[in-house]
Amino acid sequence: MGSTNAIINIDNFLFNLEKIKERVGKERKVCIAVKADGYGHGAFPLVKAALEENLTDFCGIATVNEGVILRNDGVKSDILLFSLAAPEDIPDIFDYSITPFTADISYIKKIEAEASNRSAKKEIHLKIDTGMMRIGCRPEEALSLAQYITESKNLTLGGICTHFPVSDSNIKEDIAFTTYQIALFRKTVDNIKNSGIDAGIIHAANSGAILRYPESFFDMVRPGIIIYGSYPDAEAEKVIKIKPVMSFESKITFIKKIKKGGKVSYGLTWQAKEDTWIATIPAGYADGYNRHLSNKGKVEIGNNIYTVAGRICMDQFLVDLGSYCGKKGEEPIKIGDKAVLYGGTGDSSCQSAATLCGTIPYELYCSINKRVPRIYLRKETKS
Ligand SMILES: *Cc1c(COP(=O)(O)O)cnc(C)c1O
Repeated sequence: MGSTNAIINIDNFLFNLEKIKERVGKERKVCIAVKADGYGHGAFPLVKAALEENLTDFCGIATVNEGVILRNDGVKSDILLFSLAAPEDIPDIFDYSITPFTADISYIKKIEAEASNRSAKKEIHLKIDTGMMRIGCRPEEALSLAQYITESKNLTLGGICTHFPVSDSNIKEDIAFTTYQIALFRKTVDNIKNSGIDAGIIHAANSGAILRYPESFFDMVRPGIIIYGSYPDAEAEKVIKIKPVMSFESKITFIKKIKKGGKVSYGLTWQAKEDTWIATIPAGYADGYNRHLSNKGKVEIGNNIYTVAGRICMDQFLVDLGSYCGKKGEEPIKIGDKAVLYGGTGDSSCQSAATLCGTIPYELYCSINKRVPRIYLRKETKS
């Protein structure tokens, strides 16, 4: 095990899922968004724990290959494909029992043709675009598509869904937009149901909507970022308490004194205002420690926060430990001490780092590189 690791706390993950269940009601189904390898956390260990504890029903993925990997790992639950498969990937959604979102007649017919070739009946979900403008049919087309699916002898309508672009926002116009989307979705779904069609599982809510719009819960919710313990936005409604799952950590490899006026790292962009101690951390942008944190990232060492000095390099960066090499009156910081890059709450949280980078926690989690080992922690709670 090297110095730089992503420590993944499965207990915190399960805690977050329980809070979500409490929020939406135990009778509702949950589809955890585990695309992008579980937002960089490693999907399989989390999916396994969630299924063992009966805290999820579906796994949501973004590429067919992500589903293939989960099936090869032994995942037996339903897997929902949130995006549209390339034609050459359609056989895999059959071979690996992946349930796709569909959005138009030509794609639906491609899946129907493959099902017919295999003499199979394939379950699909119908995605309605109520304002995200990414994938989905127009609300006016939804009834005829639902009819087509139900009448096909090779297709089953497993569910109907939509997605929200601004459910995490507390701006007035965004709240009006989401409220309108929910009403439009409900009306479209009711229209389908009133035509005597079995619409399957109705689902819409992402993390933002779970926090803010109970009327969007329908039969199932699709939480992503909140299962990993970050809110979808710094301003998001924090109606449920969640715990960060990932701690991105390293260990100091080198410490040296720098004289007042001394400069450090590529570009020599940082200069010491006084004699100070500088620590070297063996992590860099190749590990996913974002280069925008140059000269401003916050790192937690021994319960105190220190600031990045100079540019983040590919594999290392520097931290200013101050003139006492740590906190005045405490033992000086030494080589081997732990440094938390993102994790926890407050200044060293992923949200704070994301704000400093001008991005969102989603991107920082997903950028933790493959070379960083994921280490899973779980208390022995089971008999
Ligand atoms: C990623 C995704 C989600 C989860 O979004 P969060 O904001 O992380 O909760 C839900 N539904 C769809 C279709 C998605 O692509």
